[in-house]
Amino acid sequence: MEILDTNTVLVKVKTINIDSVVQDNQENLRPDSFDSFIWQEHIKKILQTAINSAKKRKGSMGHILFCGPSGFGKTTMAHIIAKQSGVNMKVVTGYAINKPAEIVSILNSLEEWDILFIDEIHRLKPNVEEVLYIAMEDFVIDMVMPEWGSVRIPLNKFTLIGATTKWEWLSKPIKNRFVYDFHFMDYNDEEKKIIIDKYLKKYWVATNQAVIEKIYSKVDSVPREIHNLCIKIRDFFVTEWKNEKEFTQDLRKRFLIHSKIDDGWMSPIHQKYLNILKRNDRPMGIKSIAIQLWMNEKAVEEDIEPLLIKLWKIEKTIGWRILVS
Ligand code: ADP
Repeated sequence: MEILDTNTVLVKVKTINIDSVVQDNQENLRPDSFDSFIWQEHIKKILQTAINSAKKRKGSMGHILFCGPSGFGKTTMAHIIAKQSGVNMKVVTGYAINKPAEIVSILNSLEEWDILFIDEIHRLKPNVEEVLYIAMEDFVIDMVMPEWGSVRIPLNKFTLIGATTKWEWLSKPIKNRFVYDFHFMDYNDEEKKIIIDKYLKKYWVATNQAVIEKIYSKVDSVPREIHNLCIKIRDFFVTEWKNEKEFTQDLRKRFLIHSKIDDGWMSPIHQKYLNILKRNDRPMGIKSIAIQLWMNEKAVEEDIEPLLIKLWKIEKTIGWRILVS
């Protein structure tokens, strides 16, 4: 194994200290407290207990695993934990760590009680994961030194927060080393409306409940998409705003036409996908569809098809896509 100086920067690791978290939150308008984070009550309650305990004990928290679809708030929740605990958090993505030496370097750079957030943790390579097992359990790393053979190096006590969209891809040994294993629950219509209301207020778009009642069905139940919709509404409102003091039903109708948001929150790319299938008038393979969309197959499968399946617009069989209506 390569021996590393702890200052060696092999992987791009973003360090966030608490002051910059606040700054960051104001920039991105991410919720920065459990109260402003909508829903996932079961998770917030248990995490609050874990944070209180760590503060009372003056120790680190048990390692935490967040599982759930992209855009459900896993990263946001990790930021909130760091802020509430008053510790620094280092952020890295699973696929960016290529060699055991790189994770060793990251672990070595952690201060006492720091949080290491690994997004897409299911993409860690097996030999990188192996370094983590022992680091998570015993806060040490084993290194092979040419002159001394295997040497065990102690680490500062840290908390690992892992986030994954593919829980089933994680190996049992790594799953077992997380004390807390949280699965994010779906957001229902009520939570969607609360999130829209919250972001429109943050973006200074005055509106009323009747408009929110009409608009919430235009977006999927994913906070990131809801947030994006609110940004689009803000941009439209700011541009169109003349005498109107608020985002009215009339503005809402014009906004939907302007943004080409169809019923059932389909965007033009979804329509394009359906038109390709319609034109062909027969089942098509993902590869042909992806070529016609100018996208790669993974993006089509992960970003376009889930909504079409949810809306019963297409059926997916092994290798084929069929138009439902
Ligand atoms: P993930 O890490 O699961 O992909 P993120 O934490 O990056 O998701 O969240 C994406 C965006 O959605 C963030 O900008 C945040 O503002 C918003 N968001 C996520 N969850 C919530 C929530 N529960 N309440 C309000 N906004 C949320």
